[in-house]
Amino acid sequence: MRRTDWQAVLKRAEQHAERWFAGLADRPVYARSDSREVLDRLERPVPEEPTPPERVIDDLVAAVDSGLTAMPSGRFFGWVIGGGLPSAVAADWLTTVWDQNAGSTEGTPAAAAVEQMALAWTLELLDLPRTASGALVTGAQMANTVCLAAARNRVVGALGCDVEAHGLFGAPEVHVVVGEERHQTVDRSLRLLGFGERRLRVVPADEQGRMRADALGELLSGLEPPVIICAQAGNVSTGALDPMAPIADAVDRLRTRSPAGAVWLHVDGAFGLWARASARTRELAAGIERADSWATDAHKWLNTPYDCGIALIAPAHREAHRHAMAIRAAYLPEESDHGIRSPLDWTPELSRRARGFALYAALCELGRRGVEDLVDRCCAMARRFAEQLAREPRVSILNDVVLNQVLVRFGDDAHTRDVVRRVRDDRTCFVSGTVWHGVEAMRISVSNAFTDEADVDASVAAMIRAHSTR
Ligand SMILES: *Cc1c(COP(=O)(O)O)cnc(C)c1O
Repeated sequence: MRRTDWQAVLKRAEQHAERWFAGLADRPVYARSDSREVLDRLERPVPEEPTPPERVIDDLVAAVDSGLTAMPSGRFFGWVIGGGLPSAVAADWLTTVWDQNAGSTEGTPAAAAVEQMALAWTLELLDLPRTASGALVTGAQMANTVCLAAARNRVVGALGCDVEAHGLFGAPEVHVVVGEERHQTVDRSLRLLGFGERRLRVVPADEQGRMRADALGELLSGLEPPVIICAQAGNVSTGALDPMAPIADAVDRLRTRSPAGAVWLHVDGAFGLWARASARTRELAAGIERADSWATDAHKWLNTPYDCGIALIAPAHREAHRHAMAIRAAYLPEESDHGIRSPLDWTPELSRRARGFALYAALCELGRRGVEDLVDRCCAMARRFAEQLAREPRVSILNDVVLNQVLVRFGDDAHTRDVVRRVRDDRTCFVSGTVWHGVEAMRISVSNAFTDEADVDASVAAMIRAHSTR
């Protein structure tokens, strides 16, 4: 391609990008077209002839624009979805432009180095063991999978079986303990790793969705190793974190009567792990550092663009992590270039995106203080929602708003459902509906770095309008 072609197509992309960001404040948060409408617009035979790249981009934008959801908007409160910090979005553009296949230090030295720095900073901000090993993957789903693969191989290995060599054939049964309120992706990770859903041992949760440590202790007292325990930091409905100190105590009691390495405590902290980054919320996550592995996301609360998940594994299990993921024979020595490791031996992929650039940029842009502010602001905005809504007649807040999630009920089930529907029709903000402990509720997740008081107040007003309509 000629140089002038690059300029033309990148310019078009830049113009569309600028228009997108400029329009975010006024654009309805919901998509205006459903996928059927978008597909109807696209449907035609495979083009026979080439199309100039700028035209391709213009046509693509024209076809899809109405089917885009304003997820980076400050008034998007559905699921747990972050926006994109400016430097992270720009670094992500450059990641695409540079097109590094970030598997090996030899092939892409800069990507490997940046990734190593970003992981080290992440450990520091989350106050986890500084020499923990890490991996950047697509999301918390895959981060859970990486951690639990290392866990599986380690706990079975502690009893003399080599999973890398023989799989689970001939291995003792691994008891997998999960909380009643775990995220559904944990089940899929376990399924992929050969643990059937019906064999999971489920610990009941309290009214906020936290694993009950007393019930865990009781269950563990009747189990023999190997055992994997999956705790959670950040329930998607309530934001509550499992009580990690008593959980770690219960796990330690099992460890003392088990062979070394035969018990593993994992934490799914997709967004809640970031509570560690603020002095105001750190206490909620006390004891988390005692776990063997942690999964989290950068694309949720840290506001990097999709996708970026982070798997972190305690220093004691460095070899378990590498052996579970290495593409080279596990008996070969760890390969690194001047102490910088090749990501391909620590992640489940070979060819992979250089996610470290955007993560590094986000952490640079925010700094320690900015990450703390981000966490604090989102929590403050969640409390603002709860305080304003709680003043309305027949509105109740169903959870203790300890983090960035709010569960709201508007009178009865039918009316709550109606309010969620009307708020959607109103298009001021995006919320999800859910069922919490048998009752209908609206879920509000404040995870965007740009959400401010005006966003919250306009959204509350839309909710009250929907609530007052009978
Ligand atoms: C979102 C979430 C996941 C899955 O994360 P992805 O980034 O979507 O893969 C897992 N656990 C919890 C608690 C979550 O909130």
